[in-house]
Amino acid sequence: MAYAQIRGGLMGAVRWGRAGLRYAADLALPPRCPSCGVIVGGDRQLCLSCWQALDFLDGPACGRCSMPLVQGAQMMSGADGVMCGACLADPPAFHGAPAAVAYGPVARRLALRLKYGRRVGDAQLMAQYMARRLRDVAGDVGAEASLLLIPVPLHRWRLWRRGYNQSALIAQHMARISGASWDAHALVRHKATPSLQGKRKRERQAIVTGVFSLSDHGARHIRGRHVVLIDDVHASGATLRACARILQRGGAAKISAITWARVVPDAIMTSNIFDFAAWDSDMGSEGL
Ligand SMILES: [Zn+2]
Ligand SMILES: [Zn+2]
Repeated sequence: MAYAQIRGGLMGAVRWGRAGLRYAADLALPPRCPSCGVIVGGDRQLCLSCWQALDFLDGPACGRCSMPLVQGAQMMSGADGVMCGACLADPPAFHGAPAAVAYGPVARRLALRLKYGRRVGDAQLMAQYMARRLRDVAGDVGAEASLLLIPVPLHRWRLWRRGYNQSALIAQHMARISGASWDAHALVRHKATPSLQGKRKRERQAIVTGVFSLSDHGARHIRGRHVVLIDDVHASGATLRACARILQRGGAAKISAITWARVVPDAIMTSNIFDFAAWDSDMGSEGL
C-alpha cells in the first residue's frame, strides 16, 4: 500500500473527526443559515433572503433530462413529450432528471460546504428539497414500492480520504423522508476520474466510459426496480448518463435522477458563478 494512500486515509480520518466535533459544536449553538450565517429560527433552515435567492426549477422542462426550457433553447416533440436537442440527438437511459434548484450562489455555497467543508448536516436540508422532486419521477412515492435511491459513487480512495460520499448522505436522508429504499453500494466507481472541465462531449464520454459497474449485490438489487440516481450537481450530465447506462444494462425497470442543483445554460452564459476548479477533483461528482 503506497505511503501517500495511507497518509491520505489517516488525514481523512482526522478531518472526519474534526467534522464530528464541528457538528457537535453546531448542535450547542443557535441555528444559523447554512448559506450566509445569520441566526435562524430552527435547525437546517435557510434565512428568508437566501431562500428567496434560490431558483426552484419547477417550470417547463425537457421530458427526458429535465433541462429547464430556457429562452433560445432548442426544444422539439419527442417520445417523452417536449425534449431538448441534446436528448433528441442522443437520449439518455434515464427518464427525468429534475433538480431541486438552479446552480446559483446559494445552491453552490451549500454544495461546496457539504462536499469540501464537511458540513454534513447540510445534506439533510438539501434532501428535504430534493425529496419533493420524487413526485416528478415517481408519482405517489408511497405507492411506488419498487423505488430504489442509488447515489453516484465515489472512488474508494476518495471516499477514504474524505470520509463520506456527499451524495450518499443526501440519499440516506431522502430515503428517510420519503420511505423509499436506498443502496449506496449497488454502483461501484473504478476510477477517480479527472476533471471534465473544458472537455468536448466525446472526450467526456470517453472519460466516464468503463468507470462504473454494478456490484454483485447491486446487480441483484436493481433488477425490475425503478432506480433514482442521486447526485449533488448536474452539469453536463455525462456522469449520470454513464451510471444510467450501467443500470439499464443491468435490468432496472426504469431509471431517473434527482440532483440538488442543475447548471442551466443561461446561468453559464450570464454569470461566472460556476467555479469549475472547485469541482475538478472528482467531477463534483459531476462535471462539464
Ligand atoms: Zn442566509
Ligand atoms: Zn433533455
